[in-house]
Amino acid sequence: MHYLDNSATTAVLPEAVDAMTKLMVTDFGNPSSQHSMGIKAAKELKNYRQKVAKVMGADAQEITFTSGGTESINTAIFGAAYKNRHIGRHIVTSEIEHSAVKNACKRLQEDGYIVTYLKPDETGHISAEDFENALREDTILVSLMLVNNEVGTLQPVEKIGSILKSKAPKAIFHIDAVQGLFRVPLTPKKWNCHLMSVSGHKIGAPKGIGALYISKDIKIRPYIVGGGQENGMRSGTEPMPNIAGFATACEIRQKNMSEDLKHINELSNYLKTELKRHIPWAVQNGEPDVPHVFNVSLEGCKSEVMLRVLESREVYVSAGSACAKGKESTVLKAMGLNNKRIDSAIRVSFAPFNTKEDINALIDAFKQGIKMLKR
Ligand code: PLP
Repeated sequence: MHYLDNSATTAVLPEAVDAMTKLMVTDFGNPSSQHSMGIKAAKELKNYRQKVAKVMGADAQEITFTSGGTESINTAIFGAAYKNRHIGRHIVTSEIEHSAVKNACKRLQEDGYIVTYLKPDETGHISAEDFENALREDTILVSLMLVNNEVGTLQPVEKIGSILKSKAPKAIFHIDAVQGLFRVPLTPKKWNCHLMSVSGHKIGAPKGIGALYISKDIKIRPYIVGGGQENGMRSGTEPMPNIAGFATACEIRQKNMSEDLKHINELSNYLKTELKRHIPWAVQNGEPDVPHVFNVSLEGCKSEVMLRVLESREVYVSAGSACAKGKESTVLKAMGLNNKRIDSAIRVSFAPFNTKEDINALIDAFKQGIKMLKR
């Protein structure tokens, strides 16, 4: 098998599975219980929170565990919009956000908020100048991504955070860092960011776990209410096995981050060289700043069909983002690419375990697909 769809999801690291099994089978106490098993679980939870906080550039008290990136984003956007509703109703985001951000903003529009969607340039970048021009007196919330999930571009969050701080100091800044975790160091404090979302299943943890950084300088309205767990920010018994899996994956990825980045950079360069050698007419989409995501169009070969050819050779990639479920990529469209490019776009995304053999298999499968499909 050649799995090259790691921005959609990743395999769970064996060490994370071990940590999870222990919390499911032996140390399965509820951290809210008053007996010794509960006390032990609460201690473990504290320890896991510290580990995740460390990789998010935050203090432990600033981390709320959620069920994933989507819940973290919804908590941030609805919580901030509600908190600041007395100050204004204007929100700034972009056309290349994940649907969790876009659809949360759409819902707020239905409720009377006004949303400005920034347009990227053809390389897949949002401009800080456009951002500054979009700000209004009543801007209360900005939600932008750190790394784009389809083309791997890094957005200028530090510049944007500093513009926001000087021009609209009451506005809340949320960063969707789901594709940024372990791709770039997360430094929310340096970015003047108040809220930041990450997800476990993109980095070797299980599906169903994520986290929201909430700066200690702000308070937002909780999205889920109930027993008051997670400091009142996310009620419900904490999913301890998933939290353990997430913290363990974070610890391992953190230790190996620079080596992993170097390896993935080499793989990405190898892919570029091999594409040039074997399929010189292939065009790369966007200008990525991280090596994990590579988006390429093989014009004349429909991506959904190419996907099936690759799959028949056990090569797994995405047509656009997995979340778009085969729909036309709104990211590539926003970048102004023509339909031929969009219809044939394939996203390759790497994890540290990938090898040059995976890339060789991909190139071979591409060549077979081209023979069958190119018109
Ligand atoms: N944000 C980005 C940029 C993503 O790529 C994804 C998932 O693909 C999400 C948010 C949603 O995360 P989750 O799948 O954990 O809900």
